[in-house]
Amino acid sequence: MLDRKIRNYALRVHYKQRKKRPAFVSGAQYGHIFKCAKSGDIEVKDFVQNLIVALQVYGNIGTKYRNSSIGYCAETISCNRVLQVLPINYSNVNVGVAIRPRTMQIGKRCVICNSLF
Ligand SMILES: [Zn+2]
Repeated sequence: MLDRKIRNYALRVHYKQRKKRPAFVSGAQYGHIFKCAKSGDIEVKDFVQNLIVALQVYGNIGTKYRNSSIGYCAETISCNRVLQVLPINYSNVNVGVAIRPRTMQIGKRCVICNSLF
C-alpha cells in the first residue's frame, strides 16, 4: 500500500518533471498521514529534534557519510515530514522504498536509512 503510493508519486514526478528529475523519491506513513519527498528537497532547520539526534550519529546534516549526504535522502525527508505533523519518534514511522524517477527502478537504501528505518 505504502509502496504503491510512492510508485504513483514517482510516476507523477517522472512525467511532470522530465527536465529536472530528482535522484530519488520516497514516502513515509503513520496511520492516515502519508508524506512523500524528493531527495535533497529540505532545509536543515526543518528537521525535527529526534531525527536530528539519530542522524548526527553519522556526522553533521548535509555532510557526506560514505556515498550519501546525511539527512538528504528521500526516505529521511519523507519521514521528517510525517514527524512535522505528528510529534512521535522516527522509529514508529513506516518508511517505504526509494524509487529513481528517471528509470522507475527501486534504489538500494543507504547505510544510514538502512539502520534508521
Ligand atoms: Zn538514505
